Order: sequence, then C-alpha cells, then structure tokens
Amino acid sequence: MADEHPHKRSCGVMAEFHRLAEIDSDYRSRLAGIEQDTLRRVARMSVAKLTAVTVPVVVHVIYQRPEHNISDAQVTSQIAVLNDDFAGTNADIANIPAPWKSLATAAKIKFKLATVDPQGQPTNGIVRKGTTVESFPQDNSMKFDSQGGSDAWDTQRYLNIWVCVLGNGLLGYAQFPGGPGATDGVVILNTAFGSGGIAQPPFNLGRTTTHEIGHFLNLRHIWGDTEDCSGSDLVSDTPGQQLPNYGEPTFPHVSCTNGPNGDMFVNYMDYVDDRAMFMFTAGQVARMRATLSGPRKNLVSGAAAIT
Ligand SMILES: [Zn+2]
Repeated sequence: MADEHPHKRSCGVMAEFHRLAEIDSDYRSRLAGIEQDTLRRVARMSVAKLTAVTVPVVVHVIYQRPEHNISDAQVTSQIAVLNDDFAGTNADIANIPAPWKSLATAAKIKFKLATVDPQGQPTNGIVRKGTTVESFPQDNSMKFDSQGGSDAWDTQRYLNIWVCVLGNGLLGYAQFPGGPGATDGVVILNTAFGSGGIAQPPFNLGRTTTHEIGHFLNLRHIWGDTEDCSGSDLVSDTPGQQLPNYGEPTFPHVSCTNGPNGDMFVNYMDYVDDRAMFMFTAGQVARMRATLSGPRKNLVSGAAAIT
C-alpha cells in the first residue's frame, strides 16, 4: 500500500468511536455519563474567568525509515502551534470572517513537553522508536511496544501523541474521554505533524494535532457527523452544518438553513486545510475545560477547579 501524503483532510475519530463501542459494551454508557457531567460543568462555567492550565505531553516518534525519525525542531514546532491555537494567539485569527470574530475564544490550555518521565527521571518528552512496520492501520498497534509501536506513558497524567505513518489517507485520530487507558491519546500522520521537517502542505501548519486534541477533549466535528443536518456537535454557539468543508472555502458557504453566514468552516473542528482554520468558540472551550475538570482532571496541574 502506498502512503502518499493526503490532499484532503480525513480524521478517524468516529471510526474509532464505533470500533470501541463494538468491542466494549459499557463504552456508550460511560460516554453518556461523561456527557451528563460535561453539561453540568458547562452550565456552571464562566468561560471569561478561566485561568490557564498546563497539560504535560509525551510525543512518541515511530519510524521505519530514517527520515521518519523527525527532528526535535518539528516536534517543538507542533507544541508552539498548540500553545498559540489553544490560547487564541495564532496570528491568522485575524482572518476570521466578521460575523464570528466575537465568538473566537481562548481555551487557555498550555501544552508542555514532559520534563519528568513516569519513573521520575528527567526527559525531553520525546520517545523515539524504530519499527519494522511501514504503515500503521487504525488499530492502535502504534501504541504498543509488542506490536511495533511505543507503549503509552500513564495516560492519566500525560497526553500521549503518537507520530507515525498512517494508512488509508488518514491524517490522524483521537480517543474521546471514557475509552481504555492503554490506548488513550492522539495519533498523527508524521507528514501532518508540526511544521518544517517532513511536514507537507496543505497540512504543515500543525492544525491536525489541534483538531485531534479537540476530540481528545471531547469536541465533535462541527457538522455533527451526519449528512442530513440532523447531527449536532453538542455545542450551542456553532451553526448547524450539513457536511464537512474541504480546502480553503470562500465565505459564506450556506447549508442547513444556516444563512446568511453559513457554515463556520474556519473552525478547528471542520475539515478545511491547515491555513483555513483559526478558531474555537466559547461553547467548544467550555466543553474542553469541563473535560479537564472532569474525566481528564488528572492531566492538569494548578487548575482552578470547576466543579
Ligand atoms: Zn476529526
């Protein structure tokens, strides 16, 4: 199977959701419980009063070819993008169409490569693992030493990011909160990770990881993952939207009677190219912060608790 760099965004999060639901009969009820918890926290939250929290990150670089052993610089470029996008300090925020500018909201979530490993030893937060696997399917094998991948660090205390060659044109996938601990985290195609190095356009500005961490913090796709306007992203301040948008759309793109402003395709949770996505809304930020106060609370230190 040839693994050429994709030209159209494709994310495996819903396939992963359905796969886990199939093999774990309690998964859907755990997610429903988390949704109740999220709604309760969101209702009590004042997004404007949030204070910054920090999430420690470990990046597992898995390589079969030497060039796939990406540089520290490519890794740190990704962390820098996350810190801009989740703080609302990304320069391209200025490109948001006027009707949505006031909805763009800083999540105040910081990401930091881990400085201490699970054994208490100093680390740079990057694990490098050679493999004989040319291309990983979406089966979580990249998350296990025994399957040619790299074992997770304690997923309660670290955000694990696996960077590897992924098959089937996927840019990445994430596990929603409530899934099994051993596979918790996000997987990113190595040519869609960070910028510089082997990152390739149109996915070389680090936005695939922003999108997948959005899912990891319990955000859904902005079109609600249906094709008939019946789906919802469980957020009230994003417009209803029929389908994903691709590439770099022209404003406005109207669907599902969402005129005159149409789809919020500049949102990180749509499928547009890296250079065309710039924002989270307050509703999305509330869901993510509820996740970091609830099911993923052990990931953050120094958080002002939102009960
Ligand atoms: Zn996605």
